[in-house]
Amino acid sequence: MRLERLERLDTPDERYRFAAPFRAPQGSPIRELFKYVGRPGMISFAGGYPSKDLFDREGLAHALHTAYRNDPITCLQYGDTAGSPLLRRSLAELMGAREVNCSPDDVIVTTGSQQGFDLLLRTLIAPGDTALIEEPAYPAAIQALRLAGANIVTVRTDRDGIDVDALAAQLDAWPQAGRPKLLYTVPTFANPTGATLPRARREALLRLAVQRQIVLVEDDPYGELRFTGTPVPPILALADACPGARDWVVYFGSLSKIVAPGLRIGWAIAPAPIARRMIVAKQTSDLCTSPLSQETARHYLDSGSLTLHLRSIAGAYRSRCEAMLKALAHFAPDDVEFSAPEGGMFVWARLTGGRDAADVLKRAIERNVMFVPGHAFYVREPDRSSLRLSFAAPSEAEAFEGARRLASALSYNSTP
Ligand code: PMP
Repeated sequence: MRLERLERLDTPDERYRFAAPFRAPQGSPIRELFKYVGRPGMISFAGGYPSKDLFDREGLAHALHTAYRNDPITCLQYGDTAGSPLLRRSLAELMGAREVNCSPDDVIVTTGSQQGFDLLLRTLIAPGDTALIEEPAYPAAIQALRLAGANIVTVRTDRDGIDVDALAAQLDAWPQAGRPKLLYTVPTFANPTGATLPRARREALLRLAVQRQIVLVEDDPYGELRFTGTPVPPILALADACPGARDWVVYFGSLSKIVAPGLRIGWAIAPAPIARRMIVAKQTSDLCTSPLSQETARHYLDSGSLTLHLRSIAGAYRSRCEAMLKALAHFAPDDVEFSAPEGGMFVWARLTGGRDAADVLKRAIERNVMFVPGHAFYVREPDRSSLRLSFAAPSEAEAFEGARRLASALSYNSTP
């Protein structure tokens, strides 16, 4: 196996005079790993996929049938670009349960939250504009910023997420020119670190966004997957208590991790001037999100099944996470430290002795276990000593066994 292939650049082809960011684009390093996932006996901690055993297949089948039976024409016809009014209402209610005050008109339905971020970048970022992003970061957000031609500047994080004091100092020292336009963060059960930003830091971040007039992008697909600890409201929920802050927060939600990614239902809540432009951008992107999918999602949400489903998946993720951490604590060598997330899908591990996680990956794949080496989550200078381990997909027994195999790969030559 040749790991360099994970970072392969496409060969530039000058005949087509590609736009600059597409001349030699970097593909997703995680998608490259998927070819190993199907190997017999492989236990994968690599994907950020929800568990296939935990989908509410019956509930969704019922929602799909009800949607189609009740109103086939709405399901089959084009719909409003901003989304079906009924789904927007259901999503506004869902946001109410997350302590966010919003009306259906404030919600834009997107084809996955990934599309939402893309639409936002189209409205805000011209090539060369500066965008801030926490580091380590969700790779598809980095990729989207790269393809938008952004000047990407990273923001330091610690075990609790963005170091807001360091960010304030970074902004204090900023030259007048090239002021950042936005800051992207996953503040709750972050991908990849699993970290959750404490409330006080959320409030400080809001004040900073208002003062510096930077759009604060809160990407929140995992927030409801809490299995322990005290809930922290989304940044958007805290914005009402910070004068002017509602004008500076863009929130992305998604049903992908809490219901099913195949629905491709996400949503955005943005200040009106931004929201209106995102809708224009969406007109040229996909005209509308699949009405069949939207109607299915609406019936599912309105059936009240989500609360019960969330309890069941959060419980399953808790046991999987605990099984993984137990095996790591028992079998992994001393030079490995790992996080203990309160929810979400990810454990973040670090090799304190300076070894490269990509080397460990080779040995892990030989032992039929996989993870994503941390370098995939960095913009420029990767920290090669980290590993992202997703406990969502394997069963509890597999999570334990996979972590035992991983510990064996980690134990190999544990002193560099
Ligand atoms: N944001 C983050 C942080 C994610 O991890 C993911 C999915 N891996 C997404 C956005 C994309 O979600 P969606 O399926 O809603 O496009």
